[in-house]
Amino acid sequence: MVALLLSLLTTTTLLFLFSYFFYRYSLYSTAKKARLENVAQRDEGILRDRSILLVIAHPDDECMFFGPTLLSLSERNDIMILCLSSGNEQGLGEERKIEIEQSCRVFGIDESLVNVEEHPALQDNPKELWNTAVITDILKEYVEKNGIDTIISFDERGVSGHLNHIAAFHGANQLIASYGNQTTDVHFYKLKTVNRFRKYISLLDLPYAYYKFYIAKKCSKNQQTLAQIQKISNGNGFHYSQPNKNTKKPRPVSTAWKRKSLLSVSPPLTKVPDCLLFVSSPEQYKQTLDAMKCHKTQLVWFRRLYVKFSRYMIINNLERVK
Ligand SMILES: [Zn+2]
Repeated sequence: MVALLLSLLTTTTLLFLFSYFFYRYSLYSTAKKARLENVAQRDEGILRDRSILLVIAHPDDECMFFGPTLLSLSERNDIMILCLSSGNEQGLGEERKIEIEQSCRVFGIDESLVNVEEHPALQDNPKELWNTAVITDILKEYVEKNGIDTIISFDERGVSGHLNHIAAFHGANQLIASYGNQTTDVHFYKLKTVNRFRKYISLLDLPYAYYKFYIAKKCSKNQQTLAQIQKISNGNGFHYSQPNKNTKKPRPVSTAWKRKSLLSVSPPLTKVPDCLLFVSSPEQYKQTLDAMKCHKTQLVWFRRLYVKFSRYMIINNLERVK
């Protein structure tokens, strides 16, 4: 029995050390990437100069699930939040609307860029799968009105399995599908759901998250190369295609929201990454915790536990749907 406990303890310690190593490595590589950007040696793993719409279902989703994404992207992109309901299941909708504004301010997002929908068909209810067409119509209006070129939301499993989260995915997915092949300007990234064990092991999930990210990136690279070879082969014979170094566009002066006319200077499709991995630094993790503290009506014991153990407070994997 003692031997078993000892081996369990040793394994956990080793796993923790291994994860910690990966964590330090990821912070180092992020800093290195940022330095490389200054000399325009950009790679395809970064989203920049985009007009992003984060679509969530309830106030607090931005903290509990998308903290690393928001903090990583807010520096180089414009971010607008669309919350599809006020989270009024317990009659706290009005307070929660104020809480999400305060929380977004902690993330550095002005309250004028936070929108909470009050549609009668989109009321907070874990047992109700919202009407996809209603969500799609709302999203379409936001995208066109604000010149959105990137949508981020949940995936088809909604991270927690909440039906409202899943509906947010279907709404965004349907909007993207409705564009067909007519446009390549609007992209959609979904936040990958992991299994329950991975979800609650916090930093310990990092090595595996890195592994999955590496594999996904490699697969997408191979596919891109294949597509490029086919494209070139159909033209003037097979040859090596040099990357275009003149695609760098200056980023306009940053104010609140100024991307309406920016679609024309967004990076072309080939420069938009297929998968993204965001890992928060300790400071960013603390920032996400501070944002969560703004949701006072939601700070019950199980959410307090959640913010301590959930990997979504530190790690986000996103996959491009289109
Ligand atoms: Zn939610």
